[in-house]
Amino acid sequence: IFGPDAPDIRKNPFKADFPLLASHPDLAFLDSAATAQRPSCVLDAQRRFYETMNANPLRGLYSLSVEATAAIADVRAQVAQLIGAMDADGRPDATDVIFTRNTSESLNLVAKSFGPFVLGAGDEVVVTIMEHHSNLIPWQQACHASGATLVYLYPSVDGTLSDEEIAAKIGSRTKIVAVAEVSNIMGCRLPVEKIAAAAHAQGAYVVVDGAQSVPHLPIDVRELGADFFAFSAHKALGPMGVGALWGKHELLDAMEPMLTGGEMIDSVTEQDAVWAPVPEKFEAGTQDAAGIYATGTALGYLTQAVGYKTVSAREAALVSYAMGRLGELDFVDLIGSADPSRHHGVISFNVRDVHPHDVASILDMSGVCIRAGHHCAEPLLSWLKVENLASCRASVAFYNDAADVDRLIDALNQVWQVFHGSN
Ligand code: PMP
Repeated sequence: IFGPDAPDIRKNPFKADFPLLASHPDLAFLDSAATAQRPSCVLDAQRRFYETMNANPLRGLYSLSVEATAAIADVRAQVAQLIGAMDADGRPDATDVIFTRNTSESLNLVAKSFGPFVLGAGDEVVVTIMEHHSNLIPWQQACHASGATLVYLYPSVDGTLSDEEIAAKIGSRTKIVAVAEVSNIMGCRLPVEKIAAAAHAQGAYVVVDGAQSVPHLPIDVRELGADFFAFSAHKALGPMGVGALWGKHELLDAMEPMLTGGEMIDSVTEQDAVWAPVPEKFEAGTQDAAGIYATGTALGYLTQAVGYKTVSAREAALVSYAMGRLGELDFVDLIGSADPSRHHGVISFNVRDVHPHDVASILDMSGVCIRAGHHCAEPLLSWLKVENLASCRASVAFYNDAADVDRLIDALNQVWQVFHGSN
């Protein structure tokens, strides 16, 4: 990070690509873990779809509709390539990529359609205490419905999951292990490969929530050992309302659809229906075709125009700088590891004796956007004994710069002045 090749985070060649950031030069947007900003190429792509190829994909045999269908097929292949879902010949295997609305829907699909397949009374579903509610509540419900038990992996306070904990919790009763690759509060990456190996050794299946990893890290579902992998486009520079689920073909093939209706059938009689093959089987109704098309543009910008190498290097430098500067503030308590290299874009903290909602409101007056609250991970904050079950979270993307961090620090000093200035 500090060598001769270190990115210069005082310079920002990216901000100009993002209309919202370019038109608000005094804004420090530090909430990309909630949703990313979009570059103009993504906004243009969305518009281009409606202007040049608007037709309902799959419904028509005229060329406009065929073009829309082809555009979506291309993005499906792009997603497969992004996550390393390759066929036997090493080509992206788009067949097993399902478009959903977001990570939440993808994970619900697995819990609702795959859960009943493998879960029964006495079985166990293993999650970590760090899960976002999206990778928790669907499993709570799957357990309630099947009589299975939800079992938690607990890390140390810096987010480390020990081999002993993995070995103690994943056992012969385990049928499904569902984990986030990167925690949206601690920012740490979980040892998914190890967890998956332990799960597979017991014949269990592995579901990976990639919502916070796809924006920051290259993904290879084979190396991860994932049986299912879910993510949202909107955290990876794409539009809101588009998500993806990848799954192993034989599993998707065996599963029942979560939603039924148009587009997902092969044939229908008065009393019955035969499902279309994967992935159409899981894509009932008209999809956000423009959003999917623009997702392709977003992934191209992220992985080719910018590239994960640059993304990782800039984010690492920004996190390191931010944690160093936060460390200067003796009224700030960090959550998770003190090692910046373990934070993938996310830094959670609290200002001593000040409610996170007050911190965020005061920061907002200085144009600093951070997230405050339970971040949809209430059991984690409860387990960490975080006061008020709430924290502040600053999250960076490659399009941030050192000035954004400096604004955060100045504004946090103001927060402290407001609450303790007279002391
Ligand atoms: N998992 C994690 C780790 C997340 O951070 C989020 C978004 N905050 C989600 C799942 C849910 O994503 P979405 O709201 O796009 O469904």
